[in-house]
Amino acid sequence: MKSRYDVVILGAGHNGLVAASYLGQAGLSVLLLEKNDYIGGATTSQKIFPDYDARLSRYSYLVSLFPEKIIRDLGLNLELRRRATASFTPYVNHGRHDGLLLSNVDEQVSRRSIIDLTGGETEYEQMKKFYNLSRVFAEHSWDSMLEPLVAKEEFRRRFDVDEVSREAWQSLAEEPLGRAIERYLRDDLVRGLVLTDAKVGIFTYPHDPSLVQNRCFLYHLIGNRTGEWKVPVGGMGAVARELEQAARKAGAEFVTDVNLLDVDLAEKRKSVRFDINARQQTVEARFLLVNFGRNVLAKYSGKPYQPNAEDEGSVFKINMLLRKLPTLKAKKYSAEEAWCGTFHTDEGYEQMNASYEQASKGELPNKTPCEVYCHSLTDDTIVAPELRKQGFHTMTLFGLDAPYSLFVKNNETMRKRAEEKFLESMNQWLEEPLEDCLAVGRDGSLCIESKSPVDIEHSLGMYHGNIFQDAPTWPFATKKEKAGTWGVETEWENVFLCGSSAQRGGAVSGIPGHNAAKKVLAIL
Ligand SMILES: Cc1cc2nc3c(=O)[nH]c(=O)nc-3n(C[C@H](O)[C@H](O)[C@H](O)COP(=O)(O)OP(=O)(O)OC[C@H]3O[C@@H](n4cnc5c(N)ncnc54)[C@H](O)[C@@H]3O)c2cc1C
Repeated sequence: MKSRYDVVILGAGHNGLVAASYLGQAGLSVLLLEKNDYIGGATTSQKIFPDYDARLSRYSYLVSLFPEKIIRDLGLNLELRRRATASFTPYVNHGRHDGLLLSNVDEQVSRRSIIDLTGGETEYEQMKKFYNLSRVFAEHSWDSMLEPLVAKEEFRRRFDVDEVSREAWQSLAEEPLGRAIERYLRDDLVRGLVLTDAKVGIFTYPHDPSLVQNRCFLYHLIGNRTGEWKVPVGGMGAVARELEQAARKAGAEFVTDVNLLDVDLAEKRKSVRFDINARQQTVEARFLLVNFGRNVLAKYSGKPYQPNAEDEGSVFKINMLLRKLPTLKAKKYSAEEAWCGTFHTDEGYEQMNASYEQASKGELPNKTPCEVYCHSLTDDTIVAPELRKQGFHTMTLFGLDAPYSLFVKNNETMRKRAEEKFLESMNQWLEEPLEDCLAVGRDGSLCIESKSPVDIEHSLGMYHGNIFQDAPTWPFATKKEKAGTWGVETEWENVFLCGSSAQRGGAVSGIPGHNAAKKVLAIL
C-alpha cells in the first residue's frame, strides 16, 4: 500500500468497483477500503450452508438496471439470462387452486392466464396499456441515467410530444401511483402484482404523497428500456467478480477487513485513518469516493444523519437450499414454470394495504406479502453437479411490509416469528410444507437463513436495512441548482458519493459508480 493515491474509495460494493475501473483505466491510482472480508457488498454469492457446495446470491439476485454501456466500456464478461416466466401468482377460484402466469416468452400464455383469472380480455388489454406508460417513460429517461442531471421542467418537456407520453409523465411522476393503478386495472390480484414493484425494499403504500412508491416503481420498470429482470449466470457474485477483475486490471488496489477510524473530508488533501490487522494506517488522496450510504458517512463527518420517513428500509430476505422443488396445489403449470419466475404470495392490492397498515402500527402483518424465486432453474451453475443430479435447488424469498421498526427492539425473536409467517404464506399453496423440502445440514439443521433489516444494516451499513441505502430518487433534478450536476456531489470539495445514496443510485446498476468517475474525470 502506498501512502498517497489519486482516489480512495470507501467501501467496495459493486458501484465502488465500477468507479475504480473507470478511474484506473484513466490512469489514476485507486485504493478501495472495505470493512467486510469480501468484495462486492450487496452483490455477492456465498456458500451459506457449509455442508453443501451451492453458492447463493445472498442479498441481491436479479439484474435489470445495469447499462449495456458499462458492460462494454469495462469489457465485462457477464451473461444475464432471460427467465421464461416473468411471474406466477397462485390463487383459489371457487375452491380450486389456480395461478396467474405471466410469460416472458409467450404473450398468449399471459393473455390466456389473465382471461382465466378475470373472465374476460379487458384486464389484459388494460394491463398492456398501463405497462406501456412505463415503457414510454423508460424511452424518455433511460439514456439520461449516465449523463448529468436535467432540470425537472426540461425533463417533463421531453414527454410533451404525444398523449401517451404526457399520460406517462402525469401517472408516474406527478400523482401517487395508486391512482393510475386504480384507473387502469380492476382485478385485485393484478393491481397487487403491479404494486409490488413500487414496494420492493421500501415501506410505502399506493397513495403515499411522498411518491417514493413511484420512484421505486420506475426503478423496477426502466432498466435498459425494457425493465426486464434477468438472472446473472454464476449468481450475483459473478457480477462482483467481473467488476473486481476489471478494477484490478485497471490497477486498483484493495484492502478488506478494514476498520475505518476517521476521515478528513474538509482538507484539500483528504486523509483516511484505519485499522488493519490491529495496525493503524493513514492514506492520503486527492479525491474521496463514498460507496457506503450517507448514514455511514455521517459517522465520520461528525454531522448527524437526518433521514426522512421514506428512507426507512423494509425487507425480509430468506435464503434457502432445497433438496427438491416443492409441489404446488395448482396443477395448470409445471413446478419449473411457476418457480423460475417471481412467485408472488399474499400480494393482493387490498391485502398489501392491510399489511402496510398493520406494520405501521408496529405489528407483524397477519399475512406477510412476499415474492420468491428459484435461481437454479434458470442457471444451474450455482449448484455443484452432484447436487444438481439429486434435484437440489436454491430458493430466495423477498418479504415486503417488514420495516426496520418491527425488528429493532428484539431482532432475534422477531426474525424467528417473521420467518415462520413468511413460510406459512408460502405453505398455503404447497402440497407439502416448504420445511420438508429444505436440505438438511450434517448437524440436522435446516438449510435456511433469514435476514431482517437490522441484520442487513449490520452486515452492509445500509440505513435501516434500506436495500437502496436510502429512498430511491427521481431520474431528474428536483432542485434547479442540481441541474447539470452528476447527482454525486457532497458539501465537501472533491468528496463524491459513488454508491446507491447518490441521485439515480440504488439497485445493481453501476450507474452512480460510473457517474462519480465521470465527475472526477471532468474536474481533472
Ligand atoms: C436483500 C437485498 C436484495 C436486493 N435485491 C436486489 C436485486 O435483486 N436486484 C437489484 O438490482 N438490486 C437489489 N438490491 C439492491 C442492490 O443490491 C443495492 O442497491 C446495490 O447492490 C448497492 O450497491 P452499492 O455498491 O451502491 O453499495 P453496497 O453494496 O451497499 O456497498 C457498500 C460497501 O461499503 C461497505 N461498508 C459499509 N460500511 C463501511 C465502513 N464503515 N467502512 C468500510 N466499508 C464499509 C459495505 O460492506 C459494502 O461492501 C438488493 C439489496 C438487498 C440488501
